[in-house]
Amino acid sequence: MLVMKFGGTSVACAESIGRVARIVRERLHLQPVVVVSALAGVTDGLQTMGALSRDGALEDALSLLHGCEDRHHEAAKALFPNKSEAFFKNDLRPLFDEARALLKAVFAVQELTPRTLDRLLGFGERWSSRLVAEAFRAEGLRAVHVDAGDVVVTDANYSHATPRIDLIAARVGTRIRPRVQSGCVPVLGGFIGSTEDGIPTTLGRGGSDFTASILGASLEAESIEIWTDVDGMMTADPRICSDAQNIESISFDEAAELAHFGAKVLHPKTLQPAMDRGIPVYVLNSRHPENCGTRVEVTETSEEGRVRSVACKRGITLAEVFARQGLEAKLTSAIFDALERQKCLVDLAAMSRSNLSLLLNSRSGADALSEFLRDRASVNVIEGSALVSLVGRNVARNPAICARALSALPNLPLRMIFHGASDMNLSFVVAEEDADEVVRALHLALFPRQPAIHHAEAPIPLNKSQEPLLARAEA
Ligand code: ADP
Ligand code: ASP
Ligand code: MG
Repeated sequence: MLVMKFGGTSVACAESIGRVARIVRERLHLQPVVVVSALAGVTDGLQTMGALSRDGALEDALSLLHGCEDRHHEAAKALFPNKSEAFFKNDLRPLFDEARALLKAVFAVQELTPRTLDRLLGFGERWSSRLVAEAFRAEGLRAVHVDAGDVVVTDANYSHATPRIDLIAARVGTRIRPRVQSGCVPVLGGFIGSTEDGIPTTLGRGGSDFTASILGASLEAESIEIWTDVDGMMTADPRICSDAQNIESISFDEAAELAHFGAKVLHPKTLQPAMDRGIPVYVLNSRHPENCGTRVEVTETSEEGRVRSVACKRGITLAEVFARQGLEAKLTSAIFDALERQKCLVDLAAMSRSNLSLLLNSRSGADALSEFLRDRASVNVIEGSALVSLVGRNVARNPAICARALSALPNLPLRMIFHGASDMNLSFVVAEEDADEVVRALHLALFPRQPAIHHAEAPIPLNKSQEPLLARAEA
């Protein structure tokens, strides 16, 4: 079996959904299960609608929802003109009505709790998965829509719910596996789940990748494919470095580190379930399926240091804690407990006798920490930081790499350097507005320029590294 996940840009409009149907058709013999994101921009739109309704601008929210409804309707008309009206009336309109009612309720109570927000954000995938399943059927595929809320059981940690693997395995066994075995292609929305009591949850923004790997692990799939809008995992975000190169193969731990340090192409939690079961993950471009993409796999460890990519994570807050009496263990553990209570994540930390520097994912977490430590330590909070990291095995232990990186840095203020906590990264904290320039300078120094790749228009062959998979499926 094969789990294929298509991100928002891969299902943005009728044309791209058509492309997805053709890619899936090419893989039918591998028994695919398909996971889709919301149409590009829809989740952001729902977030805006929620905030508008809460803040009293219900009409604006409803008009955005109306635009969203039109977009799905237009896509349905283009994809399956003969069935679009019946499909829209029976399958999508009731869900749009439900979303309208929810926005009105948010407006009435002037409150948008994490639980309600999860319910609201999940509509994007509920709409897209039904639309894509119907489009597949119109293309002659035996597609069946499966409600992800019935399969992906999670805890009630709204906005970052944790999947309950044992319960999911049982649901996969009854709701997905038999359908695949009978020759159908199950289509599910990514990102969404629900508690055991049926309350909608989400796995965190960008979480459809995670859905794919949870299902892949549960199905013991032969591979997991993440289809997106770039050629694979690259030596930098191609939006920042136009000469970024594709990485053909990367180890699980390097790819996981890259995702953790900001490479949005994979949700940071995606790789663990696949890694646990040794299932290879491919990152592929739905606009150029003929390209080889990136294979993430278990590879031999080598002592040699190498930079695989320059990653960048924005929206970071630097909290510099200074404890006059020194940082004894009790105080340090109280600091981390306080952050945990705030659900504030620590990206990196460095400590000396009386200083502790923390990179946090939220300003409010830093403020709460300041308040908590009021009499015991001072906290200097620096907002608007970005973390630029060189990622790769033994990067931090290779003096030549470190020297080259340091000498390539542009003449811009550095807020901190993190070196040595892990051998897998060397990280620089800079002001957010300087981040692109720092990424470009490091990328230029560490990756020699190569001529641009020309994309030939071609049919959709499997990538080379999937040939063994194909052979197995045909055997
Ligand atoms: P999807 O909607 O398919 O899930 P995302 O927008 O979440 O796609 O992720 C793909 C984007 O990730 C790319 O468009 C690219 O700008 C960004 N990205 C950041 N770092 C990298 C990297 N190292 N390699 C590839 N893409 C990256
Ligand atoms: N649609 C969700 C988001 O935009 C999940 C995803 O795309 O993976 O965050
Ligand atoms: Mg994504």
